[in-house]
Amino acid sequence: MMFQLHKSLNQKINLPPEFGVELFLKREDEIHPFVSGNKYRKLKYNIEEAQKKGFKKLLTFGGAYSNHIAAVAYAGHMFGFETLGIIRGDELKDRIDDNATLSFAKNHGMQFEFVTREAYRTDKLINDYQDYYIIPEGGTNVLAVKGCEEILTEMDVDFNYICTSVGTGGTVSGLINCSQPSQQVLGFPALKGSFLQEDISKFVSKPNWKLITDYHFGGYAKINLELIRFINAFKEQQHIQLDPVYTGKMMFGIFDLIQKGYFPKGSRILAIHTGGLQGIEGMNNTLKQKNLPLIE
Ligand SMILES: *Cc1c(COP(=O)(O)O)cnc(C)c1O
Repeated sequence: MMFQLHKSLNQKINLPPEFGVELFLKREDEIHPFVSGNKYRKLKYNIEEAQKKGFKKLLTFGGAYSNHIAAVAYAGHMFGFETLGIIRGDELKDRIDDNATLSFAKNHGMQFEFVTREAYRTDKLINDYQDYYIIPEGGTNVLAVKGCEEILTEMDVDFNYICTSVGTGGTVSGLINCSQPSQQVLGFPALKGSFLQEDISKFVSKPNWKLITDYHFGGYAKINLELIRFINAFKEQQHIQLDPVYTGKMMFGIFDLIQKGYFPKGSRILAIHTGGLQGIEGMNNTLKQKNLPLIE
């Protein structure tokens, strides 16, 4: 999959000197305007594989704000695939045009099938779609992990910690595989669930990683006032936009851990900005309905 990619740079985050650590953010969110961050990395070898095997159609799965759905729609459009999204949440069927993610996907040619949350989990669905190249939910499979192994480069070997947000675990798996043995990889799950530890273990064979499970804010796409305020303050101070579903929670966690003295003095920390900014519009619509402040 050969998009013109921008370079992702490591940007220094300004911290008070008394924090005693250095923090950089790898701007993977800037590599492509629509297939941003880790979703580009995860699709790259899957698209190549689909092309190689002669598939004309892609099928994948996702929910209302899914960065993955947006990315597959766009990549399919670019590379001449028909795309079908199986969308969790039957109630979204009549609200495509009110949903920023789904209307973006629709405008890039994606067809949808809306299923109830119960039906979503069944494998039976898949038997009906033999002529589709199937990309699992969140895009995680062996080829996705291989793509994520390209996130770290030689310029990153001196960091002591590599941090990323975790959804299905593909990204953190790729980072673990390409990390140095001297580095510790910390994953910050954006959802509740004990299955992640096991899922990640299927893709990696190194021991230098850990999940930090205290910063999911109640679950996937759940958010509160404290998190909104943090994301807005971070933008004001660092001039970097974080997303509310993934990177905002990770960065909140990193700041909290720094202040609690988790990282030894002098540590050099690299956090990955995995993108996800397309989801902000949809989240703001929800926040508006709840009378909460918006993500600025
Ligand atoms: C999908 C996504 C993640 C989670 O990636 P996994 O490989 O599923 O763990 C993290 N951050 C952003 C912005 C994402 O869109």
